Amino acid sequence: MKFSMLRSGLLCLTFLWSLGSGASISKRAEIADQKMNFDDKFRQLEELLPTPNDYRTASGAPGYRYWQQQVDYKMDLRLDVKNQRISGEEIITYKNNSPDSLYYLWLHLESRSRDQSAGRVLTQTGLDEPKVSYRTLRNILESNAFDLDYRIESVTDMDGKAIPHTINDTMMRVDLPRPLRPTRSLSFKVKWSFNIHDQKAMGGRFGYEFFKEKNNYIYQMSVFYPRLAAYSDAGGWHNKQFLGGGEFTLEFGDYEVNITVPADHVVAATGTLENPSSVLSSNQRQRLSQAKTSSKPMYIITPEEAKANEAKGASGDSKTWRFKADKVRDFAFASSPKFIWDAQGLKSGGQDVMAMSYYPEEATPLWETYSTHAIVHTIEQYNQYTFDYPYPTAISVNGPVGGMEYPMITFNGPRPEIDKKTGERSYSRRTKYGLISVIIHEIGHNYFPMIVNSDERQWTWMDEGVNTFVQFLAEQSWEENYPSRRGEARNIIDYMASEKQVPIMTNSESLWQFGNNAYGKPATALNILRETILGRELFDFAFREYARRWKFKRPMPADFFRTMEDASGVDLDWFWRGWFYSTDHVDISLEEIHHFTINTQNKEVERSFDKDQYQAEPESITKQRNRSLNRRVERYPELSDFYNRYDRFTVTGKDRKAFDKLVKGLEPEEKALLQSKKHFYQFEFANKGGLVMPIILQLKFSNGSEELLRIPAEIWRRHSQAVSKVVLSDHELVSATVDPFWETADVDTYNNHFPRKPYESRLQVYKREKSRNLMKEMAEDQKAEAKTSDAAEESTAKETH
Ligand SMILES: [Zn+2]
Repeated sequence: MKFSMLRSGLLCLTFLWSLGSGASISKRAEIADQKMNFDDKFRQLEELLPTPNDYRTASGAPGYRYWQQQVDYKMDLRLDVKNQRISGEEIITYKNNSPDSLYYLWLHLESRSRDQSAGRVLTQTGLDEPKVSYRTLRNILESNAFDLDYRIESVTDMDGKAIPHTINDTMMRVDLPRPLRPTRSLSFKVKWSFNIHDQKAMGGRFGYEFFKEKNNYIYQMSVFYPRLAAYSDAGGWHNKQFLGGGEFTLEFGDYEVNITVPADHVVAATGTLENPSSVLSSNQRQRLSQAKTSSKPMYIITPEEAKANEAKGASGDSKTWRFKADKVRDFAFASSPKFIWDAQGLKSGGQDVMAMSYYPEEATPLWETYSTHAIVHTIEQYNQYTFDYPYPTAISVNGPVGGMEYPMITFNGPRPEIDKKTGERSYSRRTKYGLISVIIHEIGHNYFPMIVNSDERQWTWMDEGVNTFVQFLAEQSWEENYPSRRGEARNIIDYMASEKQVPIMTNSESLWQFGNNAYGKPATALNILRETILGRELFDFAFREYARRWKFKRPMPADFFRTMEDASGVDLDWFWRGWFYSTDHVDISLEEIHHFTINTQNKEVERSFDKDQYQAEPESITKQRNRSLNRRVERYPELSDFYNRYDRFTVTGKDRKAFDKLVKGLEPEEKALLQSKKHFYQFEFANKGGLVMPIILQLKFSNGSEELLRIPAEIWRRHSQAVSKVVLSDHELVSATVDPFWETADVDTYNNHFPRKPYESRLQVYKREKSRNLMKEMAEDQKAEAKTSDAAEESTAKETH
């Protein structure tokens, strides 16, 4: 754009609207001799990401030599409900698919983290302020008094010969008698036991809940058995200690698990039940087969049957439930005499799936309405964005754990409130949607990370963030205006502007504001990527490709970043840099607007234009006050001459001739240009938050027309702090708004408007609290005392009469 052709100077005053420091055109000249500050927001990520290789390609897909280990488990578990203890004996079969010989194996003993000597306990920091909730205080006291009594009773080979092993906090190294060569397998046995804690008092991802009135329990058991740490091309042994935050990094394998529990218990677990005829009644088995094709959830154990079972109490007998699960990375179960059980079958591609819910009577009315529906809904929705749910069951269990996921089984907490006096039940809006959301979230975890098997201990966002994003999509298709907590850009603004932040790409254990950092921000970033940066079509294709490529495999962050670019054909390095590697926020400010129209070069037109401008200027205060002044020239008219008759805007023949000459020298298309009536608006934007984003600009013009301009983020590539953009129009601009639909998480929308809008808020009027009046309080106490002693005297007097 050549500004020499344009009118400038005076004319700008009509529309120039400046808030000071922006790099305006005139200031650029002054700073021309200084080195500019080049902050490359579009610098490629290659130098940060690991070098691609035969295991992981530069396109973000598994390479042609991709491998992962396989670990199978056969376990016999025993739940000792008298002593609140769980014990197990497991046979672990480790298949070494790596190209490396292994001399030892690392196992996770995460349940050991409740031991008083554990790093998790020792590294817990103090209170932020000198106050504590009853719940936290109870947790501190009970955790401190808890005796875990964790025992690895033996590690042996299949002949019972001891294998040397070393416990290192929540890890155990098993030293192999012989190196395990590539392609070889090895089986060994581990025997273990420990005490189960009261989850309601001490929290955590598993434990029991005690129901005082009925003297019975719900057990939600997970993370209990020693299990293999992952060994991968990207991380070697993933043997980071469990400090309580970073969840699990595990291998896929096949599980056969026998769980021995009291005979009145009902067990829900990862996998399919292998011995229904020995643990279920024929009635229950018949209902289960009916539920396969039912269009609605139906009871396998009705509320009445659960009530009767609960009332009957334990006989002292036990039963063994046998489960089998293939291609899972973990195993969990729940057990209780309290369970009501409902189920509904569905098709997921070629897979028959049973969606099932287990809950105590205390969870009604709520669970029978929503739980199984929410499971089915999750699978239907997630299948659209990823791949078909491949497992035969999907389970939601109500118990003490607020929300936690394992393959095929999830633990979900929300329950109605029971009025202690009347026994009446009700639930809040928050509880209702909290339940639906937590079930969508936890069942959704089957996709991320139970199948797309990311390293949770290192990168919380890869499962929580990605899953929370799909959860948002699923919630929005549950009902209109579903109150999703996370996903919408506008919901992340307070966090983005907050002080205590670390980048998303931070180790799980070091995160600040865990929920916002690892759930909210990545979920929102992905939603912005989908709606604003890529559009739904490109995004959905790329996201599905990521899920498809890494289904039953172990992706790392680079694989996600690279796949999203590879499959969308869009360079997103700036996006990953801004949203995942920095704590910058979005704040794009519309600083100035310059208005230009074409200078015709015709003095007839231009001088009259200048005159209009001059006359439009406000009259000076001195002139205003001098209006009635008796001036000399008025008193002596002979003093008035030529210059009093012609002002500086007068056009002469010389001017006209010069213009005629100019016009003669112009080509016809150049003449036409001089006659253009276009308005040139130059918008000056400042990037105040640091995060570069597309500029979405809504313009309204004097004729009532509107225009929406979507300028890609690349406009910031040369100047990341300030950029300008020219817009042409036949009409005058009335208003301009940046990010009119609040889609970029711009933290300050005040500076998004031309003309500026006032900050709207309501002024809160309050009364000052009176200071303590000790004299008055004491006087009241004395009055009250006198009253009670009078009454006492009176009643004694009556008695004696
Ligand atoms: Zn989660």
